[in-house]
Amino acid sequence: MRYVSTRGKSPEASFKEVLLRGLAPDGGLYLPTTWPQFNVNELRKVLGSDFSYQALASEIIYPFTKDSIDKDELSDLIHRAYDSFSAEDIVPMKCLNSKLWIAELFHGPTLAFKDIALQLVGELFENQLQKESEKITIVGATSGDTGSAAIEACRDRESMEIFILHPHGRTSEVQRRQMTSVHSKNVFNIAIEGTFDDCQDLVKDMFADVDFSTRINMSAVNSINWARVMTQIVYYWWASMQITDNGIVNFCVPSGNFGNIFAGFSAHNMGLPVEKFIVASNRNDVLDRFFRNGEMELRDVAPTYSPSMDIQVSSNFERLLFEVFERDGLRVEQAFKALRSEGSLSVSGDTLAGIQRKWASSKVSDSETLARIKKISEEYGYVVDPHTAVGIEAAERHAGVSQAPIISLATAHPSKFPDAVEEASGISPTLPSHLSDLYEREESYEILPNDEGAVKNYILAQRKGE
Ligand SMILES: *Cc1c(COP(=O)(O)O)cnc(C)c1O
Repeated sequence: MRYVSTRGKSPEASFKEVLLRGLAPDGGLYLPTTWPQFNVNELRKVLGSDFSYQALASEIIYPFTKDSIDKDELSDLIHRAYDSFSAEDIVPMKCLNSKLWIAELFHGPTLAFKDIALQLVGELFENQLQKESEKITIVGATSGDTGSAAIEACRDRESMEIFILHPHGRTSEVQRRQMTSVHSKNVFNIAIEGTFDDCQDLVKDMFADVDFSTRINMSAVNSINWARVMTQIVYYWWASMQITDNGIVNFCVPSGNFGNIFAGFSAHNMGLPVEKFIVASNRNDVLDRFFRNGEMELRDVAPTYSPSMDIQVSSNFERLLFEVFERDGLRVEQAFKALRSEGSLSVSGDTLAGIQRKWASSKVSDSETLARIKKISEEYGYVVDPHTAVGIEAAERHAGVSQAPIISLATAHPSKFPDAVEEASGISPTLPSHLSDLYEREESYEILPNDEGAVKNYILAQRKGE
């Protein structure tokens, strides 16, 4: 399996290159040259009585990685990755009614769906680096969820050190404690006196300083990495196979950077029958506007109850555009140039009609989010987090349109966003047992000014072997 860039100018790459690089040299995102094909009946036959999440994951992921990792090795890595999950079937399915199912993606160590990808990506990084005796320094910026999931995925690993920048005093307490209470010799938390954008700019500037980034062998685990999307493909097959024998379903996904729902579209390209993908947005509705009228126009980001979906640019959307443009990298490049320079990108006519045959979208306000949390709790005795509620609200709106069931993805555990859940429903969600003492754990982090030199000096001083 080889990989191409969505901008069409980089040479084809191997899985190992795609994993360790993240972004392609021409600024594009990697995708496989062809989509491996599966079907539900054959998968059931191959898996036989061992139809576990891990066994299914080995089948689905293997074609993507087989040039770098043999099948037994891959299966070991997958089992190790999901050992840390508190649900035996990794992604349990919950039936709300005959038309609406929930796929619970939040049973990993940090209570958000990002663990499903990052726990395995951590194993894949370590596996590839150890084969070459290489060491890397991961540097990332977070507004909350990604940082803790990345730290849990990389902690205690020999081949890497991880530095995560968060905006001082601007993350939720649960999010901060999930990062700063990890005491491992390769984990470093930096609280920047600034905003999330400042943190992101610092990381970008450090990457751009080739002397510095080469000296520390700097790497990233952000959501444009193909390996994360690849890992997420599995639960679309899993969820569908749990609730139907061979039928068609809809998927509804609370979306931000578009990585999660694009993994669903990848599963569909690999043969999974899906009627529609429903993109659920909060007030930051750049995606909803695109799927309605073909126009993507950048606006300011407003804070909401679902902060992990507060985005202006959805990085993984580029991958969809590449498919829609029939893999014409030049056209993708021109579209993103227009987005950069004029602040908008558009498609129309047959292209838009083609997109709308497979995609629907919905925008959910803060008050609708809270109302939905309350309604689900009253109707079903089921407590959901605000991101999940945005998805369920969008799914309910779509339910009258389709005969097929809708699987709505639950992307975070309610106790990760306790304030919004309590405000909506009066219920104060409790942390699962592995985190029950989170509020008592000792924290450690370094507070640094919003200054590139200070951050670089800190990183150089903390690294071993310098
Ligand atoms: C990251 C995140 C999202 C958005 O997912 P994308 O893949 O960026 O579209 C939604 N909900 C939660 C809880 C998240 O952490």
